[in-house]
Amino acid sequence: MINRERLIRSFMEMVSISSPSFHERSFAEYLLEHLAPLGFEYSFDDAGQKIGGNCGNLLLRRPGTGKSSRPLFFNAHMDTVEPGYGIEPRLKNGFIVSSGKTVLGADDKAGIAATLEAVLSMVEDNEDIPPLEILFTVAEEQRLLGARNFDLSRLQADWGYALDCNGHIGCMITAAPAHNSYEVMIRGRAAHAGINPEDGLNAISLASQAINALQLGRLDEKTTANVGRIEGGVATNIVPERVIIYGELRCLDEARLETLTAETEEIFKSLSLQGAEVKFEWRKDYPSFYIPDTALPVELARRAALKLGLRPETVSSGGGSDANFFNRGGFQVVNLSTGMDCVHSTSERIKIDDLYLLTALVRQIMLEFESRAS
Ligand SMILES: [Zn+2]
Repeated sequence: MINRERLIRSFMEMVSISSPSFHERSFAEYLLEHLAPLGFEYSFDDAGQKIGGNCGNLLLRRPGTGKSSRPLFFNAHMDTVEPGYGIEPRLKNGFIVSSGKTVLGADDKAGIAATLEAVLSMVEDNEDIPPLEILFTVAEEQRLLGARNFDLSRLQADWGYALDCNGHIGCMITAAPAHNSYEVMIRGRAAHAGINPEDGLNAISLASQAINALQLGRLDEKTTANVGRIEGGVATNIVPERVIIYGELRCLDEARLETLTAETEEIFKSLSLQGAEVKFEWRKDYPSFYIPDTALPVELARRAALKLGLRPETVSSGGGSDANFFNRGGFQVVNLSTGMDCVHSTSERIKIDDLYLLTALVRQIMLEFESRAS
């Protein structure tokens, strides 16, 4: 049986251990203290060294005790956003909240606490547990740097679940967009704004022409575009020489994303016809994924949710998560809602009932997975 009090206690302990991105080591050590006695073997990869953090991605494996021979995959991330030092969780009206000075860190420790309690309760109940492959990543909040640097070929599972999105328990993300970001430098010519403005080439004016020519916001149901930051100019009496613009594009369809990125580049580059120097640099932040409703991980999660009286629902997200990197080459990872709420803010919270239901769902998924083998 799931031990509700123990679940709350362990979640509160977990969030009390600070683990902002690149500083996940102490939290990983806490996890090992609790997971090793449950029969998990573990290894860290070298992602920490590569990205300048103090901890690598933590891969845990536990052999099955039942008939399943293939492992089931679970993932959550160990890092939190800031302010994330000295989190003091408290109980308030059926929720767990922070002191108001920091985030709570339910993103993503709710997923981790639920996984730990699900396994612990099944061990205590002598339930058959499928072989498990659990990956706790680092630096998810830093452009998914941990997952990006994880060698997927190390996984033996065929599919599984990430526990890292908001929404009601039973809700799951089965599609998310690919994401490109770009940085443009526009260089015009400086001149005195009052004495010889005709000698200048106004970089701010050029930038605004290009930005006006872009389509921004929600372009269609699969696509969004944003210009998020602009820097440039020195003083009102100087025709500005240089502007830097930062923007991004997201699309469920990767081919369309490439086309849009090229079109965006074209619009900025056309400013060179007016004599400006334009440098356009873009990068692919993460790929998209799409899992049909008929896929095994979706069906199994739906069945598990229904057995618990939850409302299963598949949704498409506008954001990225580690799952974007895992859904490659036929490996399918559905991102389950954990109940975390108001994330990335000091009002972050989680309903205790949701934390409990999430644990029940993870447990039921393991039971369903195991029952397929028998
Ligand atoms: Zn998260």
